[in-house]
Amino acid sequence: MTFYESVNIEAPRSMQRGASTVENSVYFLISSLTQLQAARKTLAVSVQLLIVFIGFFHESRYDFKEMIMISGSLIKKFIDLVGRENVFDDKADLVTYSYDAAVLDPVVPAVILRPSNYELVGKIVGLCDENSVPVTVRGAGTNLSGGTIPSANGVVLMTNAMNNILEINEEDMYAVVQPGVITAKLAAAVEAKGLFYPPDPGSQAVSTIGGNVAENAGGLRGLKYGVTKDYVMGLKFFDAHGNVVKTGSRTVKCVTGYNLTGLMVGSEGTLGVIYEIILKLIPLPFHRKSMVAVFDETAKATETVAAIIAGRIVPATLEFMDNFTIRAVEKHSKAGLPLDAAALLLVEVDGHHAQVDEDAEKIESICRKNGAVSIRSAKDVYEREKIWTARRNALSALAQLKPTLVLEDATVPRSKVPEMVRAIETIGKRLNLPIGTFGHAGDGNLHPTILTDRRNNEEWKRVEEAINNIFEKALALGGTLSGEHGIGLSKSAFLESEIGAGAILFSKNIKSALDPKNILNPGKITGE
Ligand SMILES: Cc1cc2nc3c(=O)[nH]c(=O)nc-3n(C[C@H](O)[C@H](O)[C@H](O)COP(=O)(O)OP(=O)(O)OC[C@H]3O[C@@H](n4cnc5c(N)ncnc54)[C@H](O)[C@@H]3O)c2cc1C
Repeated sequence: MTFYESVNIEAPRSMQRGASTVENSVYFLISSLTQLQAARKTLAVSVQLLIVFIGFFHESRYDFKEMIMISGSLIKKFIDLVGRENVFDDKADLVTYSYDAAVLDPVVPAVILRPSNYELVGKIVGLCDENSVPVTVRGAGTNLSGGTIPSANGVVLMTNAMNNILEINEEDMYAVVQPGVITAKLAAAVEAKGLFYPPDPGSQAVSTIGGNVAENAGGLRGLKYGVTKDYVMGLKFFDAHGNVVKTGSRTVKCVTGYNLTGLMVGSEGTLGVIYEIILKLIPLPFHRKSMVAVFDETAKATETVAAIIAGRIVPATLEFMDNFTIRAVEKHSKAGLPLDAAALLLVEVDGHHAQVDEDAEKIESICRKNGAVSIRSAKDVYEREKIWTARRNALSALAQLKPTLVLEDATVPRSKVPEMVRAIETIGKRLNLPIGTFGHAGDGNLHPTILTDRRNNEEWKRVEEAINNIFEKALALGGTLSGEHGIGLSKSAFLESEIGAGAILFSKNIKSALDPKNILNPGKITGE
């Protein structure tokens, strides 16, 4: 029996042994919504993501007796500040905000607050500082490194009530947004004006700009257009004491003072709470062409990635999908991908018509030279959308195959992609673990995705060994632990092996100088 035959993806996973009542209720709510709104793609994507998250946790592992409650008088102050309707402290809410998209044990917070404006954010941070209460900011909770797992006696500060696009300046090409703006909504709003905000994490239908900035999120277009840091011109945030800090400016160039914007981007909520963001926009490309190249051997596909880059062509997107992932996506969303392909490359080039045609021809020729069995170009917008929806569904599709999914983010120099993919296959075979690999191969950022069951202790040991082996291999190839998902809780133990003791000490000194009581998202990045 193959792995695909042995798993029952139809079974509602939150109904499996150990699922909590809350999870079951949410599952039924989601499935009803799914049936009612099947045609509404955006909602469906969000629902799929929610199902992914709920599916990570099947056991009730919450011990309310262990909780350290923050004082009633402080809760009263929060209620006076944001209103009772924006303070959530019943068990179901606390459990809902105890985890994110990382496979880590949940931690139940003391209270969840939903401020509707920045002044309230500043006052909340000030109160937390005064009372030495930890505060974890939460956008959409889609991060994959445990960045929004709160502290046991802590506050969760939601940003989803601060979701306005404050300005789109067409003349100077920038946007000013609040942190809770959904990434895809900003992209659509600027596109309607002929402008382009390129960072496009696979989670863009639900992730927030605040979360993207705090994680320095990447996406499918990172190869040509870079990542979130390349678009952040300035920020406003509250420091650990509730003081306002402004960084950067609305100008293209700004070298005034320390690069505090750079320090904040990717700081994972540990140095400040961001409440306003100035983002660079660029002109929308005139023309786009998407292609799918089919390979009968994985090595041919990965070597083609290296050959395209060596050929001095920079596609907007160059994604890899192995056979395991192709089959999961087909089962999940019937995208028309060839089930017998060993691997696929999904490519998009953009720019002026002539440039696009020239680049597409060159890529096609490199693919054929490297043994592509076939290459198909999207004929219209519908076909293009189908290709990219298939790719964006990869994680949700894999998540349906087993109770627990561990998505890694190891990144290597592009020329090392073939060796890294080979190593991941070997690790999976040696440890007898199903691993689907897909990702942004054009920038060396692969997502080996291990399917497992967290409740199986013996298997989980093998998963941990696989993760260690993947990190070791990536570092040995001159790569990095994380291309885009951040360190959070899940990778902090590995940090020193990449950046060294000096950088760890420097980071800890920054953190303790700026946040002496360690109230801002404790435990993330350096582990303290
Ligand atoms: C299906 C799927 C696909 C994904 N694809 C990609 C991808 O292609 N590329 C990629 O980079 N990531 C990807 N991710 C990971 C994730 O979506 C990103 O890390 C994203 O940036 C998180 O945004 P969020 O709004 O969910 O933030 P959250 O998860 O809520 O928060 C992330 C971190 O930011 C901090 N934070 C949030 N808001 C603020 C604020 N206002 N001020 C200070 N700190 C703040 C939080 O405390 C936390 O540490 C994917 C995740 C999923 C589930």
